[in-house]
Amino acid sequence: MTVSAKASAGEAAGGGAPRPSADRLEELGIVGAGGGGFPAAVKFRTRVSLVIANAAECEPLLHKDKELLHHSSEPFLRGLRMAMEMVGAREGVVGIKEKYQDIIAELESLAPAGVRVVPLPDVYPAGDEFILVHLVTGRVIPPGGLPKDVDVVVANVETLINIALDRPVTHKYLTVAGAVENPVTLRVPVGITIGEAIEAAGGATVDDIGVLIGGVMMAKPAESLDVPVTKTTGGIVVLPASHSLIQRHNAPMIQVNRIGRSACDQCRFCTEFCPRFLLGHPIQPHRAMQSLGFATGADAMVATLYCCECNLCTMYACPEDLDPKNVCVQAKPLARERGLVFKGDPASITPHPMAEFRRVPMRRLIAKLGLGQFNNVGPLSQHAFSPRTVKVLLKQHAGLPAVPVVQCGDRVRVGDLLAVPQQGKLGARVHASIAGVVKVTADAVVIEA
Ligand code: SF4
Ligand code: SF4
Repeated sequence: MTVSAKASAGEAAGGGAPRPSADRLEELGIVGAGGGGFPAAVKFRTRVSLVIANAAECEPLLHKDKELLHHSSEPFLRGLRMAMEMVGAREGVVGIKEKYQDIIAELESLAPAGVRVVPLPDVYPAGDEFILVHLVTGRVIPPGGLPKDVDVVVANVETLINIALDRPVTHKYLTVAGAVENPVTLRVPVGITIGEAIEAAGGATVDDIGVLIGGVMMAKPAESLDVPVTKTTGGIVVLPASHSLIQRHNAPMIQVNRIGRSACDQCRFCTEFCPRFLLGHPIQPHRAMQSLGFATGADAMVATLYCCECNLCTMYACPEDLDPKNVCVQAKPLARERGLVFKGDPASITPHPMAEFRRVPMRRLIAKLGLGQFNNVGPLSQHAFSPRTVKVLLKQHAGLPAVPVVQCGDRVRVGDLLAVPQQGKLGARVHASIAGVVKVTADAVVIEA
């Protein structure tokens, strides 16, 4: 079954006024659709005065939030109001790139009481929650903290639409971009393969490809075209296998460490451009690089914990093409193991005086990444999917894998419950995205139509 974005909005508009509650979000299996997959029910069991809708989509070539706002502004704004009601917020803000003037005008004309639009600079990573909260409010979330620590909840555009739709999460919006015939935004059943999504974009335009899931900056390289789409897959970027981004994402850590140890000249560019460092957080990637060559002790390790893995240091800042981001990621478990956390006064955290002038414009980032040759569009398609089979993963959210409540041979319909969170643990419900007969495996429920 496939329903177009327009139809989804229409269905939602005609579906009455669902009562917002965190328990209901839990029933529906709603998780952060922007990539983090944090269970929405947990996020919305709080009281704050401001909800920020994160429409700052800043992964190069991805457009699904912009397309959703264009085609589904009504359920989006309704979801934002419902979110505000759940947390008792008086105010809602839509944080969106200032370049989308047409969408800003439309949202401003439709915005209900208490909701306003805040245009954001077209920079990377404006969509990082910490950066977004600072851009919108001027407040700094403390290191290791959450938006609620500064009286804010942040929710992605698609998450808010899922709240308004008031039905189990069975489908996902994503952009397929890069070296494909028709870059496009699709609504796909959860559990189809990324290969099927690429085919729906007209297929690859080159023979030998590499695929990045989630974008190019915070991407995971796909191991194969059979990787299933989850509730958090926001984008699929196809590139020639020889493209430098594919090469860099696939570089083994042993090589990253060896080259980093010998070639890092401690110029500090990685730190001076680091968005979290500029926010005033105790993260200095050049110090993590020092740790490759020396036993630097506690400080360098602490510096890695507050890296948000935006990849700006590696993909943009470092003049030597080294990989400080992955050096930080590699050091995090050790820092956690040693309990090396920030112990300072959060009130002492102040943004760098040059922060505003060191923001990285998207057009410069796209040029630096060698993506200028690709068509930077992603219009919403009405493509209808009728997969013969889907693989619905038991872990497609933050926390632990869900536990199946179906058995091999059971017949399910779209929206039926497949799995529930482990008792007392962080997790999310998982539902059927197509009708058919199920097979339960170690990590998934496979449905055959
Ligand atoms: S920017 Fe590159 S060379 Fe300079 S300190 Fe950072 S990792 Fe080393
Ligand atoms: S990936 Fe690099 S630039 Fe981004 S937060 Fe981590 S250290 Fe800073």
